[in-house]
Amino acid sequence: MNDYVQDFPILRQKVNDEQLVYLDNAATSQKPRPVIDAVANYYYHDNANVHRGVHTLAERATESFEKVRTKVKNFINASSEREIVYTKGTTEGLNWIARSYGSTHLKQGDEIVITYMEHHSNLVPWQQLAHETGAQLKYIQLLSDGRLDMGSAEKLITDKTAIVAVAHASNVLGVVNPITEIANLAHKHGAVLVVDGAQSAPHMKIDVQQLGADFFVFSGHKMLAPTGIGILWAKSIFLAEMPPLEFGGEMINSVELQQTTFKEFPWKFEGGTQNIAGVIGLGAAIDYLSAIGMEKIELYERSLVENLLPELLKIEGLKVYGPLDPVQHSGIISFNLGQLHPHDVATALDMQGVAVRAGHHCAQPLMEYLGVSAMVRASFYFYNTSEDVQQLVKAIKATKEFFKNDTV
Ligand code: PMP
Repeated sequence: MNDYVQDFPILRQKVNDEQLVYLDNAATSQKPRPVIDAVANYYYHDNANVHRGVHTLAERATESFEKVRTKVKNFINASSEREIVYTKGTTEGLNWIARSYGSTHLKQGDEIVITYMEHHSNLVPWQQLAHETGAQLKYIQLLSDGRLDMGSAEKLITDKTAIVAVAHASNVLGVVNPITEIANLAHKHGAVLVVDGAQSAPHMKIDVQQLGADFFVFSGHKMLAPTGIGILWAKSIFLAEMPPLEFGGEMINSVELQQTTFKEFPWKFEGGTQNIAGVIGLGAAIDYLSAIGMEKIELYERSLVENLLPELLKIEGLKVYGPLDPVQHSGIISFNLGQLHPHDVATALDMQGVAVRAGHHCAQPLMEYLGVSAMVRASFYFYNTSEDVQQLVKAIKATKEFFKNDTV
């Protein structure tokens, strides 16, 4: 680390006359040349629709498309490639679980347990499901440093609980949740555990079997792949019985005038022409990440946070949300600078070449829980450098100085 920067042509540019420092990786990651090339090569040489053709290009495209299932299976240690379902992204995966598994399993009086730190994508689908089925939606509390309150989890997860749905890593607080512990709790009470892996799969080694999850979803675009491709993993036992949600081409075995039989999983869920180029790009992204090693990525990002956090904590008036101990912090750091509006801070940082995000980060109930309307979020990836950390600190200090007559 960090020779990887050169693989990311987009990073080599100036923004507002300053070298770009891209710290919005939790929103989406940049794409390295091998991923861009894989997508371009597919379009240059192999483009054809999958599964339907016997001609050479169709066979080539199908083979590449299906091979990526094996790469994903190995990446998350699923027990079979058939457990890998292609989706548009985390949001679609979570919606499918809620609509397919949820609608067929929940009844009035059942409970769905989530947490106060969930992204809207792991909240609104459950809220909708609760409205439709008469189930109740309950929220696990957080400790004052933003970590999950496991005492609250133990109280809320009961024999009434049908589904527990939790982020593996928060997109705001930089905490990583104790998934195995939550899985044990859920299973003790006969509930299934859905894990939102949008912010973990790109940054750490995932072993869905070791985690004890029943469902695990993530997005390709946050881990070097193109937008519009994601993964829904579930244990075979669930995928086998879950009804498909998108009906049409590709997902059928035979269609008669009044009835249709469907393919087996995962294909029964993949109605219509799929995002073939996205799948190929995801395969290249997984190759790229695996060549580095996910453990190495996690350690490296932690070292950036270990540099950054103490520097941030020295800035008077700056409040960091989430744990203050770098060891407990993922590569996402959310903060506010005095009374300055987060959008003003983000704009000032952008003027200095530093790209961060400001807002509610698709977690309005979390903002309300913490009593703020918005935050600034800096989020790192393995191609960020210690110079990026220094540039961020310098830019925050300059921003503070610039606004010193306001209410910092
Ligand atoms: N969950 C979490 C924790 C996220 O950070 C995000 C993306 N911001 C999502 C879900 C939704 O992912 P996508 O927009 O790729 O569907």
